[in-house]
Amino acid sequence: KLQAAKKYIDSVYESVKQRNAHEPEFLQAVQEIFHSLLPVLVKNPKYKENGILERIVEPERMISFRVPWVDDNGKVRVNRGFRVQFNGTLGPYKGGLRFHPSVNASIIKFLGFEQIFKNALTGQAIGGGKGGADFDPKGKSDAEIMRFTQSFMTELSKYIGSGIDVPAGDIGVGAREIGYMFGQYRRIAGHYDSGVLTGKGIGYGGSLGRTEATGYGLIYFVNEMLKDKGMDFEGQTVVVSGSGNVSIYAIEKAQEYGAKVVACSDSNGYIYDENGICLETLKQLKEVERARICEYINEHPHAKYFEGSQNIWTIPCDIALPCATQNELDKQAAETLVANGVKAVGEGANMPTTHDAAEVFLKNEILYAPGKASNAGGVAVSALEMAQNSSRIAWSLEKVDTELKKIMVDIYRSSVQASEEYGMKGNLVAGANIAGFTKVADAMIVQGVI
Ligand code: GLU
Repeated sequence: KLQAAKKYIDSVYESVKQRNAHEPEFLQAVQEIFHSLLPVLVKNPKYKENGILERIVEPERMISFRVPWVDDNGKVRVNRGFRVQFNGTLGPYKGGLRFHPSVNASIIKFLGFEQIFKNALTGQAIGGGKGGADFDPKGKSDAEIMRFTQSFMTELSKYIGSGIDVPAGDIGVGAREIGYMFGQYRRIAGHYDSGVLTGKGIGYGGSLGRTEATGYGLIYFVNEMLKDKGMDFEGQTVVVSGSGNVSIYAIEKAQEYGAKVVACSDSNGYIYDENGICLETLKQLKEVERARICEYINEHPHAKYFEGSQNIWTIPCDIALPCATQNELDKQAAETLVANGVKAVGEGANMPTTHDAAEVFLKNEILYAPGKASNAGGVAVSALEMAQNSSRIAWSLEKVDTELKKIMVDIYRSSVQASEEYGMKGNLVAGANIAGFTKVADAMIVQGVI
């Protein structure tokens, strides 16, 4: 039985590899899920009988489109836009939009694939999707951002809707971009469909607490994991990579819980502040001025700035929170963290840890929270935003935060439970993958071969 299950997984993976040969990030995400599924397939022949693996790796729909726009010099520019509607079994496709020069079909498919299981873990009625463009917002004027996002939405609008597919933000897409996209959608659609996008401003259908949700949710999740071992954030030294929306609110909540956050980064380098990062300065730089992180030392001359964001993991810490981007923490960084005595790692970004690095954490029995579980707070509150939009009622911040906390604790519990049920105790990667997978796979079986 074990051999048969292994053969099935290997043969499906082989065919995925052949058909998606030039998509390394997507293959990495598939391999990571498949890696956890052996005990599940041994115990449940129904997944093989219903061709679940073959079906789940193939997007229901992958849309790629031209995004033409005119820059401030009057020059015509063209970018490539994407939307993958990966799996709609549990609800309308749901997932963010990423604007970053690295975006391509592989990146969008890896993110969309992760999103299926993450969204399933939240327990809400949302399927998995993702999108974006290989557009670089860095250095663009506000007018350029508006023209680009409008052009992007002109095409995307044909494929979305509150009951069809509901995009939100991701790297490079925040409240400003969502605002411009919502305006353009409304203009094209000719009706007010507030639930067509999430992450909207509070003034026009956004949810209180959505901005903070991914970062806060990460801390709620890690806190639960620490609690299980009789620990908490109080007095712990924390390193957070990135300085975007996820990082800022992870830092805020970690500080509230009594941690000392000594470092954060952007794509150029990182800052180290032994007194603890000043959140006020960080917010001013990143949310208001859209400046680089090196500017931090102008306000806090005792802090240090280092080029090369990767080296942030050489700082000794108790808790490491990678909140920047995929594959930012490799094997060497993991070994350094372990050698320096790290106790817990919580992923705020999507797949920030390479497969080798994750193995290092698991082998050394470091508490390790995989992103698809620990960063699910963002999309979870997006689903709460959808609920508020369809009922035309706005919830208080307290209500949203209480729900978020409950969802993160539930995700933690169901991941632990799945890991124990399938003989993988202590392995939250396997637990989260199994809990997310079985939820979607069972619903796929009931819905027939589609
Ligand atoms: N981009 C976020 C994620 O990776 C949020 C998606 C959403 O809110 O739809 O989960």
